[in-house]
Amino acid sequence: MADNFIGIDLGGTNIKIGCLSADMKLLWKTSIPTNAQMGPAAVIDRMVDAIEEAAGNKNTSLETIKAVGIGSPGPAKYAEGILIRCTNLPKFTNVPITKMLKEKLRLPVVLDNDANAACFGEFVAGAGKNVKNMVFFTLGTGIGGGIISDGRLLRGSGGNAAELGHIIVQANGRLCNCGQRGCAEAYASASATARRATEAIEAGEQSSLKEVLEEKGEITSKDVYEHLGKGDKLAKKITDETAEVLAVLCVNMLHCTEPERFVFAGGMIAAGEMLLDRIRYYFKQHIWKIKSEDNIEICFATLGEDAGIIGAAAMAGELKTKS
Ligand SMILES: [Zn+2]
Repeated sequence: MADNFIGIDLGGTNIKIGCLSADMKLLWKTSIPTNAQMGPAAVIDRMVDAIEEAAGNKNTSLETIKAVGIGSPGPAKYAEGILIRCTNLPKFTNVPITKMLKEKLRLPVVLDNDANAACFGEFVAGAGKNVKNMVFFTLGTGIGGGIISDGRLLRGSGGNAAELGHIIVQANGRLCNCGQRGCAEAYASASATARRATEAIEAGEQSSLKEVLEEKGEITSKDVYEHLGKGDKLAKKITDETAEVLAVLCVNMLHCTEPERFVFAGGMIAAGEMLLDRIRYYFKQHIWKIKSEDNIEICFATLGEDAGIIGAAAMAGELKTKS
């Protein structure tokens, strides 16, 4: 009987669940609303029900499933499998999620950060499939990150390594949600990009985005990129600033881990090649000139929303191999 693995992507709105074969094929996926306000025990029960139902329906019986991986927002004690607290998951404070799932499913369970899970997914089955060293960024409300070094995820002493959005790119700069100043996230996340555009218009800069702000009361990063496509000068300036910060992050990470590839994921990659081209341009501007770095690729992720479940399931696969 083939070995299969379950990957869970625990989000504030939805829980995505997928079943992966040992050769990294996604056999099925399903999704249920999180309903975090029901509390951890009820949410975990529903998770287990969803796994049992999907596994039974799809000829991947529970006996074929050998381990489970979960990607969740932090902070958490990953090695111990405990979620400490998460703003998107009210009532989830100090939840021993690994232990609770193990008891219900009688299978080995591994917990990791959601960005690490997505990074690992891209590494095993997506944009990082054929490299051994890669750095991964997700651009959304914040900037998440993951590092693959010599074929392994870099986890650090407490499992919290690769918080790449909180690398400081400007001493005493903008205040970040994390409390530090000058984090990359405070400049170049999707939310920060939209905020900088709003501030510029409020300061009197001319832009076709002004009408959007007046009509909707807010600007999103999607608006910025739409207006960039239409040739708006402010949208170009804002995109350039975002791209430059992301390029600086790449340069900093190059000096840390020497990856072969940088992979960008998350909602903001909908901006397309225009954003990627500017990141590549600024990377060339800021990188050292003592050695050519022409072989380093900067590209987009390819798995979309499935990266998290694929990565979590692949982590479960590693767990099984170890045990
Ligand atoms: Zn920060």
